[in-house]
Amino acid sequence: VDSETQQCTFADLSLSAPLLQALQEMGCEHPSPVQLRTIPQALAGGDVIVQAKSGTGKTIAFCSVVLEGVNTSSSGTSQAIVLAPTREIAMQIADELRRLGWYMVPVLDVACFIGGVPVEEDEERLESKGAPHIAVGTPGRMLKLLREGSLLTDARFLVLDEADKLLDTNFRQDITAITELVFTKSLQFLAVSATFPPPLVALAEDLFVHVEKKRATRGQPVMRDLPNKVFLCTSAVKKDKDGLNIIDGGGEEPGDVVETALLKGVLHLRYVLQGYHVRQKVPALLEVLTTAAYQQAFVFVGDSNNAIQIAELLNQAGVPAAASTGKLDQAWRTQAFAGLKRFQYRVLVCTDLMARGIDAEKVDVVVNLDLPVEKETYLHRSGRTARFGSVGWMVSLVFEGDEAEHLHFFQMQLGFELAEYADREAAIQS
Ligand code: ADP
Ligand code: MG
Repeated sequence: VDSETQQCTFADLSLSAPLLQALQEMGCEHPSPVQLRTIPQALAGGDVIVQAKSGTGKTIAFCSVVLEGVNTSSSGTSQAIVLAPTREIAMQIADELRRLGWYMVPVLDVACFIGGVPVEEDEERLESKGAPHIAVGTPGRMLKLLREGSLLTDARFLVLDEADKLLDTNFRQDITAITELVFTKSLQFLAVSATFPPPLVALAEDLFVHVEKKRATRGQPVMRDLPNKVFLCTSAVKKDKDGLNIIDGGGEEPGDVVETALLKGVLHLRYVLQGYHVRQKVPALLEVLTTAAYQQAFVFVGDSNNAIQIAELLNQAGVPAAASTGKLDQAWRTQAFAGLKRFQYRVLVCTDLMARGIDAEKVDVVVNLDLPVEKETYLHRSGRTARFGSVGWMVSLVFEGDEAEHLHFFQMQLGFELAEYADREAAIQS
């Protein structure tokens, strides 16, 4: 925690009493840097694009803004739409909104609309109770409910969590369609992520600035101002004069020290093996998860079927584990996710479905059984640990050859230090 935030409390951000009380009970006294910059900026009314490292409190940053702007005396339409790329993240945000909005009067209604549960349940809920003050959900389900007219909106806020992911190919069409459907003149956009590559920033700006143009059928469309940007770190990389990679903060001279998107609290380790088939890594995985000291761990695998089998093997070895992948039923996924948060499981074996956004404070180990393809994904995986200033380590189990080289490539791209798994005790000390 830096000095800037220690001096400031949430009360200094002129938040309302119900919100301050909830924050206090959640153990949040001092706003984190991203909260300190985002909340006043967004309360002033403009659209905001936010980038800050994993686990630094982006959720409370946007939820506070939304809750301050929602009027619980008015009902029948949703005043805020919050979108996330996975069902688990959506559920987590809805929980956070309910906790933060606990003391609001009249009572705040937050609902979560996600794929994988029968759409009839959502429709019945909307039919009987009306639209919630805040609707949180995944793009496909939200778009369906909006299109068929079950979810009525009068939106003051549209929030995109993990915005770069939402604006990346798969989801973009749905996001654009939702934006056009819920657009109002007073709509405020908030887009947040730990990684915001420049092309995705451009897409976010385009969405914000041009939405009304796309929607206008006659008359002169109004162009919105460009969104404000709160960028606390950058993730592009360039070479310095000695050939070492440094993070490109935009305009720094080679060799300058710049802040990186890497979390300081994560130690990066590698465990090199001989072999070619992912099963040959299982003994090493079991060794790590049965001998190392840790509280909870994430294990990332490339293939959904492997996740299920490995969770099974871990259970047989006496390590309570659950699997979570896109191939599993939502009921199983929700169970695994809730079980992890309630410490019923020690290990979650998952695909990159869970690489982003999931906040489980006791997770201090991340294992890469398979490496991700993209460096952003490596960063997001590492961000499952060391949340809000805590510490942890991530170990990549790699075969000698191509895989080890791929890891080396990430190391050069992202600029982290890499120690051998066998030397971790010494590395943890230093
Ligand atoms: P991210 O930036 O990755 O979205 P989250 O919003 O999930 O991070 O927050 C990570 C954790 O930090 C959460 O458990 C949250 O409750 C906690 N947290 C956030 N802000 C504060 C704060 N100001 N003081 C204490 N804990 C906080
Ligand atoms: Mg988040």
